[in-house]
Amino acid sequence: MDTLKELHALSNLYVKRDAKMPVLFVGHGSPMNAIEDNDFTRRWASMAKEIPLPNAVLVISAHWYASATLVTAMEHPKTIHDFYGFPKELFEVDYPAPGNPALARALSEDVMGASLIMDHDWGLDHGAWSVVKHMYPDANIPVLQLSIDYTKSPAWHYALAQELSVLREHGILIIGSGNMVHNLRMLSWQMIQGGGYDWAYEMNDTFKRLISEKKHNALIHYDGLGSAAQLAIPTPEHYLPLLYSLAMQEDREDLAFFNDKVIGGSLTMTSVKIGK
Ligand code: ZN
Repeated sequence: MDTLKELHALSNLYVKRDAKMPVLFVGHGSPMNAIEDNDFTRRWASMAKEIPLPNAVLVISAHWYASATLVTAMEHPKTIHDFYGFPKELFEVDYPAPGNPALARALSEDVMGASLIMDHDWGLDHGAWSVVKHMYPDANIPVLQLSIDYTKSPAWHYALAQELSVLREHGILIIGSGNMVHNLRMLSWQMIQGGGYDWAYEMNDTFKRLISEKKHNALIHYDGLGSAAQLAIPTPEHYLPLLYSLAMQEDREDLAFFNDKVIGGSLTMTSVKIGK
């Protein structure tokens, strides 16, 4: 997507903006956040009000972990209830945001470094709709998802995200949706409202320090961050969306943390806003 011709083709499709859209990494936590009114969801709502209104939202969700890189390309993505054992009320949530097939096509034709497949089966999983529903409750902003290819390395994902960064100039809000520290096997119900194991606090601090110092190489090679990191990232799907978001940070670009909290012993909601 680095040729002028391709950029021009994209800019014809979308409103050109002077300013780049910010990029978010959102710790999405429990699916119950979709229907709860709490500190996390209120911050998602206020975030949407403090940033420019996007032309579209592109979510890289931990919950679309696939054998290829796919982009949702349907006019009307369905609301996927990809969880079990939650109240009926949660299964009844419908978030009818439209898709944007033209944007999906532009991405699949123009993205360098990946063969991007147009998908007509997925929709919006809870990593996307549980968050975006609070940001844009009227469901009037098109929402697309990009899958995370589990056959690729963290460095590959980081490089792909750098290519996608150009979308920021076209009014597209990119959200990585996961959790930096995410170990459900060690979840503690005693600490569900707040609190964590020592290693969870340690990793929350380590992640924030490395992000603030823009030490992205250490974050890409997280297997070198020691035993606490192994507990924080037992599997990579909730962590990789962070790398997507960080890869889009420009030199000396503003960065702020929000929802900085350890809950349930082994989970962090800590989120990042890049840009303004
Ligand atoms: Zn999740």
